Amino acid sequence: MDKLILIKYGELTTKKKNRKTFIKTLKNNILKLGGNNITEICDMYDRMYIKTSNPILLVEQLKTIFGIHSIVICHKTETDIASIKQLIMNILKEKEFKTFKVETKRSYKQFPQTSMEVSRHLGGFILKNFISKVDVHNPELIVFVEIHKDYTYVYTDEIKGLGGYPVGIQGKGLLMLSGGIDSPVSGYLALKRGVDLECLYFESPPHTSIEAKNKVLKLADTINKYSGNIKVHIVPFTRLQEEIYKNVDPSYIITIMRRMMYRIATIVAKKNNCKVIINGESIGQVASQTLTSMIAINSVTNYPIIRPVACLDKLEIIDIAKKIGTYETSILPFEDCCTIFLPDHPIINPNLKRCEEMEQTFDYEKLIEECVSNIETIKKLEPDKFSELL
Ligand code: ATP
Ligand code: MG
Repeated sequence: MDKLILIKYGELTTKKKNRKTFIKTLKNNILKLGGNNITEICDMYDRMYIKTSNPILLVEQLKTIFGIHSIVICHKTETDIASIKQLIMNILKEKEFKTFKVETKRSYKQFPQTSMEVSRHLGGFILKNFISKVDVHNPELIVFVEIHKDYTYVYTDEIKGLGGYPVGIQGKGLLMLSGGIDSPVSGYLALKRGVDLECLYFESPPHTSIEAKNKVLKLADTINKYSGNIKVHIVPFTRLQEEIYKNVDPSYIITIMRRMMYRIATIVAKKNNCKVIINGESIGQVASQTLTSMIAINSVTNYPIIRPVACLDKLEIIDIAKKIGTYETSILPFEDCCTIFLPDHPIINPNLKRCEEMEQTFDYEKLIEECVSNIETIKKLEPDKFSELL
C-alpha cells in the first residue's frame, strides 16, 4: 500500500512573494530526482504531500533536495477520536520516550473539539498507557496530529531536510571545478542557495592525466546528486599554459594563468547563460588567493564572481567535503594544471601593470579563442565510464 510523505518547506516560507515559483521549482526537482517512486504529489501553501510505494528510497532521495526543511512519514486513519487513539497506540508501542507532547492541527473546523482540546485529550490518553511525562518545552517525542475532514494524519519523527532554496530558482552559475577539495564544496554551497551549475574544467594533457580528468568528472557526478542537470565543459588549456610558462616571469605564472582562466570562464558563462562564475578560492589559502592577488586576477572581468568558501578555514571546508561525499575523491593524488607549473616563489602581491605588460608579450587572445572553440562538453555524466578509470 502507498505511504504518505509530508514535506515541510525550507526557507521558502520567508519568501512570500516568490512562493509560487519556489514551490513549483521544488516540485519539479522532487519529480526529477525521485519521480520513479512517486504515485501522487500535491503541493500546498506550506507543505507538500507525496504518495509513494517505496518510502525508504524516496526519503533518501528527498534528503538530497534543497528547499526541504523536514520530511515526515505519515500514518493515516479516520477522523474520529477512537481511531486516532488506536493509531497512536500502535505507533508509540514501537518507541522509547520519557517525555512527550502532542501538537494538533485542525483544518476540519467542524471537528467537535478544538486543537488544544484534542492535544490535551490525547496527552491524557498517552499518560495513561505509557510511563511518561508531558514536557511542552523540550520533549523527547512530539506526536503530531493533523485532523482533516475525511482522514487524520499522525506522525512523530521529522527527518531533517537539507534546507536552502530549490536548485534552479536563481538560474545557473558556472563553477570552476578542479580536482581539489574546495571547488566541489563551493558548488554544493551554491546549489544550496538555488543556483544550478555548469562546470568548467581546465586540463593540460599530457601534463595532466586522464585520471585527473576522470576525478573531476567523478566530483561533478557527486554534486550532481543535488542537481540532476550538471554539465561539464572541458577546456584544452595546454597551449595557452605552455605559452604563459615561456613568456612570463616565473613568479607571475600562476597570476597570469588565473587571469586567463577568468577570461575563458567569462566567455563560457556568457555563452551558456550562467549568471555568475563560482570558484573555490579561499582568502589567503595560497599566493594567488591573497586579497591583492584576487584584485589582480579579478580585474580581467566584470562578471560577478562568487566564492562560497572565501571565508571558511580549510578544516571547515574539509568537514563539508566529507559530509557531501567529495572528500575521498578530492584527495586522490592526480596533478592538476595549477600544480604542474607551480613556481618556487609565486608572487603574493602582484602588480596589475606588470601583469598587463607581461601579457603584451604573446598573443594570448588567439590562444583563448582556440581554447574556447575546442571545448568538449559532457552533457550527461556517465559515472560507470569514468569511475572505473580512476
Ligand atoms: P585545493 O582544494 O587543493 O585548494 P583547489 O581546487 O581549490 O584545490 P586552488 O589552487 O586553490 O585549488 O584553486 C582555486 C580555485 O580555482 C579552485 O577552487 C577552482 O575553483 C579554480 N581552479 C583551479 N584549478 C582549476 C582547473 N584546473 N579547472 C577549473 N578550475 C580550477
Ligand atoms: Mg583551494
